[in-house]
Amino acid sequence: MESDNTPIKKTNYIFITGGVLSSLGKGITSSSLGLLLKQRGYSVTIMKLDPYINVDPGTMNPFQHGEVYVTDDGAETDLDLGHYERFIDQSLTKRNNTTTGQIYFSVIQKERRGHYLGKTVQVIPHITDEIKAQIKTFDGQFDFVLIEIGGTVGDIESLPFLEASRQILLKERHNALSIHLTYVPYIKSSGELKTKPTQHSVKMLMEFGIMPDILVCRTENKISKDERSKIALFCNVDEESVIEGIDVDHTIYEVPLQYAKSHFDEIVLNKLNMPLNTLELKTWEKFVHKIKFPKNSVTIGLVGKYTKYRDSYKSILEAFIHAGSINDTEVKVEMVDAENITKDNAHEFLSELDGILVGPGFGSRGIEGKINAIKYVRENGIPFFGICLGMQCAVIEFSRNIMGLTDAHSSEFDKESANCVIDLMEEQKKIKNKGGTMRLGAYPCTVLEGTKAFKAYGQKDISERHRHRYELNNEYRDRLVENGMTLSGLSPDGKLVEIIELKDHPWFVGVQFHPELKSRAVYGTPLFINFVKAVLQFHNNKEKY
Ligand code: GLN
Repeated sequence: MESDNTPIKKTNYIFITGGVLSSLGKGITSSSLGLLLKQRGYSVTIMKLDPYINVDPGTMNPFQHGEVYVTDDGAETDLDLGHYERFIDQSLTKRNNTTTGQIYFSVIQKERRGHYLGKTVQVIPHITDEIKAQIKTFDGQFDFVLIEIGGTVGDIESLPFLEASRQILLKERHNALSIHLTYVPYIKSSGELKTKPTQHSVKMLMEFGIMPDILVCRTENKISKDERSKIALFCNVDEESVIEGIDVDHTIYEVPLQYAKSHFDEIVLNKLNMPLNTLELKTWEKFVHKIKFPKNSVTIGLVGKYTKYRDSYKSILEAFIHAGSINDTEVKVEMVDAENITKDNAHEFLSELDGILVGPGFGSRGIEGKINAIKYVRENGIPFFGICLGMQCAVIEFSRNIMGLTDAHSSEFDKESANCVIDLMEEQKKIKNKGGTMRLGAYPCTVLEGTKAFKAYGQKDISERHRHRYELNNEYRDRLVENGMTLSGLSPDGKLVEIIELKDHPWFVGVQFHPELKSRAVYGTPLFINFVKAVLQFHNNKEKY
């Protein structure tokens, strides 16, 4: 954030909408444009406007919505914020994600306070004014605010967001732009790219009073000059503003390089009368090169219960890509459904893997399978990384199989157990509401010197993001330590255990927090980098025999 005496900037607003289909990669497009502008020396932030009525995605099932991304300031947000942070290497805040639920919540609260006394409260102007106020929250602080509007143009839910952006686009003609992302399908039988869906989508946007300045056309094949002219003519944009968004083969991190080749950022800057400045992409290019041409390859099993929907573990998968590139290693992630793992068949699922990660989660399904998997990797010296619920399962496994507390459990799953080694945090006991009430956001942690965690971080004072209600039960701390577990990270007041590890094992680390949420492209995050390093070593040792 800027200091008080920084001159107020002229902020440019760039709205990004999507048409034809969902899942076209609006998030990656917004992130890539953000990166390109940043690499030209501009300050940038990115917002997501989500049309659903939930106040935030925190109460949604991961199968519905994918991962819930948590910011430093403890907001539970859309997973696109993860892409934004990873690409532009900037921590975002709760102000970067707004939902219809939040907008209405705030308007209704104001109405109750008497803010609109005498008036009929309506979608236009009251809801749209509230949306505009949210969009303007960063005014004067950044050169560019990119606003991604969730959903597809034409959805009933997103209409107020489109209307608010129309008003800003009209009023601030010189510092606001509309970018529309569409799909240009390739029809095999005729060997042609089809532009009609794009024409229809733009037509629909125009019905709402928004004329796109730039079209980004997602396509599998190159768009020819003729096709580009046709799109330009029918969609009322100039030819150079038809940007080809061709599928990339290897990695989403290649997208900004593709867009740079299409002069996407230059066109944006020209339209907003902003100087081009030089574009610095060397570090990014090197990062992408390392992903595309790795020297080694390992396979890590991700044991969890949301394995059928990879977006549920989005940040973990991305953190592996970052950590892999730093270790010159391709990390293949194999999803292992925890529910299938028993004591007897764990070998079948896990013996070929170079490492396993037991992921975060809620609810009891798959818990025993996770515990079985952890027993197997602990006994067989396979590198292990437990995140949040994964760490809690490691403590349960250790308590049951090393300390002989056969009924050890978490009170989340078995309140009757006499040995709840994982228990509800004190402050959680009085909470009744479900939304936004977990221990959320960044908290400091003190790392014990001489541990694997310390080796990874290289320092004592760290800060990581959290999202949980349960925690290692302090009554069992001494016994866990006596039996060989190291409590390698504690909250600064010593009250909460944040990291556990085992000594006589190549790499066995569990964390109560979510390090994956702070993993950035190019830089990665310490524990993932060291885990992949240990996994690679384990893999190479196997090869020798
Ligand atoms: N369900 C566990 C808790 O609330 C773990 C949460 C998680 O894995 N993010 O503490």
